[in-house]
Amino acid sequence: MHKKNIALLGATGSIGLATLKVMRQHPDKFRLAAVAAGRQWDKLLPIIEEFRIGTVCLWDSAAAAELRRHTSARVLEGMDGLLELVSLSEVDYVLNGLVGAIGCRPTLEAIARGKHVGLANKETMVMAGEIINAALKRNPSSLIVPIDSEHSAIFQCLAGRPVSEVEHIELTASGGPFRERPKADFRTIRKSDALKHPTWVMGEKITIDSATLMNKGLEVIEAHYLFGMPFERIKVVIHPSSIIHSFVQFRDGSLMAQLGCPDMQLPIQYALTYPERWPLEVERLDMAKVGKLEFHPPDMDKFPCLGLAYRAGNLGGTAPAILNAANEATVARFLEERLGFEEIPRVLAAVLDQAVIKQNPSLDDVIGADHWAREAAVRILSESDGAYSSAPASVSPVTAAHAAKRSGPTPSGKVI
Ligand code: MG
Repeated sequence: MHKKNIALLGATGSIGLATLKVMRQHPDKFRLAAVAAGRQWDKLLPIIEEFRIGTVCLWDSAAAAELRRHTSARVLEGMDGLLELVSLSEVDYVLNGLVGAIGCRPTLEAIARGKHVGLANKETMVMAGEIINAALKRNPSSLIVPIDSEHSAIFQCLAGRPVSEVEHIELTASGGPFRERPKADFRTIRKSDALKHPTWVMGEKITIDSATLMNKGLEVIEAHYLFGMPFERIKVVIHPSSIIHSFVQFRDGSLMAQLGCPDMQLPIQYALTYPERWPLEVERLDMAKVGKLEFHPPDMDKFPCLGLAYRAGNLGGTAPAILNAANEATVARFLEERLGFEEIPRVLAAVLDQAVIKQNPSLDDVIGADHWAREAAVRILSESDGAYSSAPASVSPVTAAHAAKRSGPTPSGKVI
């Protein structure tokens, strides 16, 4: 049997490491042909050696230089390196587990070359959903199989049936670590609290996004483009144990769900073997032990990021890319412990308020909007810098700083 030759982007992240576990279970069927990572060359080195990889890429050029001193593999770097990696003739499948906006162009490159893509990088669809869908139409031999657990669940439930047979899809959300915390206590949330996800172990940025529900918001946009589903037919339900990974409500009244233990190996393997199902050693669900399943509507007031995502999705064009980029910049600031948790949605709303949305964007438009949004977020953050530690609980530093700017600084020079 012909082995599937895989390029794994984001090899040292949580998706990458889970992919390696899947590949170790089927060494006769999968070959890791190329890997890419950000800057963790020392984590990449044992992977290169174990899987005897000839071509690798690091995003960071200093890390790439370091890696070259330790391996005989060809070491590429940066975006050019990523694009070259997915274009290699020996690669027939690209598994994109990159984090953030950089995942977009490698996906497009793989589609342009007619390759199949296992997509865990949600930013690809969020930023450039229209562009990706147009590219898929031009390259019918290409295919995207979603790896995000919710989208994999919907993909599995749909089983190829058209959207016209679906009333709505329903994404499940764990609700994050602050589901039960009163909103009044949100200002005391620290980075370490937000990094404690109740069910999934993931990278830091996506864990913060889960705590704000922005992750679910981005997934709503992702689902819109992946499945061609209008926003009013995409629902979110809080399901704390993450046993059901999502639902599809068909027009005959049948509600299909996909269930499983929270383990990314399953959606990863399904994306690699679709439409077949291969054996996989992961924990099995024992429904008698699960006992009961719990569901709640999402609290849009406590978690404004979810509503912002619907707003950006409905605006269309470059709006989702703007929201996504502003979120990356703002969450980075939160992870540096320079911003309060509650300020994240306020900064994002301010960026969206200022944005000029371009419809039917080109990739350059999307990248331009991405850059603009990062700068806008940083500007809004710097305009209100220093406000976060001194602001009283009832005042938004962002709003207060804007008010202060408009009316001039207060006599004390502090934001009140
Ligand atoms: Mg997900």
